[in-house]
Amino acid sequence: MNELARNELLDAHGRAVRYLRVSVTDRCNLSCRYCRDKDMPFIPHESILRFEEMEEIIGLAVSMGVRKLRFTGGEPFARKGFMDFLRRIRLSHPGIGLRITSNGTLLGQHIEELKELDAMVNLSLDTLDRDRFAEITGRDLLPEVLANLDRMAGLGMPLKVNAVAMRGHSDKELPALAALAMDRPIDVRFIEFMPMGEGSIWTDSLFWPYAEILAAAREHWELVPCDDDNRNAEERGPAKLWKLRDREGRLSAGRFGLISSVTHSFCQSCNRLRLTADGQIRTCLYDDREWPVRDVLRKEGIEAVRRVITEAVAHKPIGSDILARSSGPVALKSMSAIGG
Ligand code: SAM
Repeated sequence: MNELARNELLDAHGRAVRYLRVSVTDRCNLSCRYCRDKDMPFIPHESILRFEEMEEIIGLAVSMGVRKLRFTGGEPFARKGFMDFLRRIRLSHPGIGLRITSNGTLLGQHIEELKELDAMVNLSLDTLDRDRFAEITGRDLLPEVLANLDRMAGLGMPLKVNAVAMRGHSDKELPALAALAMDRPIDVRFIEFMPMGEGSIWTDSLFWPYAEILAAAREHWELVPCDDDNRNAEERGPAKLWKLRDREGRLSAGRFGLISSVTHSFCQSCNRLRLTADGQIRTCLYDDREWPVRDVLRKEGIEAVRRVITEAVAHKPIGSDILARSSGPVALKSMSAIGG
């Protein structure tokens, strides 16, 4: 039997879902201006999935073909018990890729264990300027993030740094952020600002597209393509990656990447499914339809959840079609509520 035949999660466009992104909480210790509408209420505690419920749903998803898990939020490390949960997931699923998206402020005491669990971390970091960091996130925690980044890099953990690209802001940050990849084997990736959430600060003028980010990077470095290096496409994900060559001819240890989530959508090959903190399946960031699994699990059990997931996957849209039809924000919920 080939890979696709074994995968139960095949959508109507022939895409096999192999990647589940789980939002473990919608709460965060930072309040990045572009991410969370501050008037949006948090999900009430009783509506949040218990870790044991997440484990059941993850076990089911793995049995249906999921091979990679990402824990995100909100801030995953802000939820009490997250590391115990992660340990149990690793024990139950030794062969599965474990990934975490984090702001890097709360994970210091867990770094060694994250390495042992082979859990890769994507750090979200939009600036290396302390005042600017405090302005964007509402907290003066850049030194903690940089100390944690250094420790993880020092332990040889594969690291990705993600920055949201905003015209008039990120253009000033680009040289310093990308330079992180010069001496360390870190992938520094700029993500196009997505028009997410009703209260989003997203505007056309803040949007800094792929082509312009690329041109800005080329003012500082020669970009050496490395898409065909030895990491497979599933691992590389939607990022386009380059090595940087500086004016002295030195080649970077890490890579510079661009994720064109708006201009060149990678929806045709999307293999993702999302589980929100309150137990809804979402098949696309840009699609507001949700398939509730929390209550189904509580009332009918895990086999009923299998049917809901299958149904959801059958309706997985091509997200760029939704984007093309819209002129403003495309989803009602912000990234922190869905799980970025
Ligand atoms: N708290 C964690 C963190 O900071 O990485 C995980 C959750 S956060 C919502 C996940 C990612 O979504 C972050 O990298 C953040 O920068 C990104 N993000 C939030 N809003 C976005 C938007 N409108 N467009 C693009 N990326 C966005």
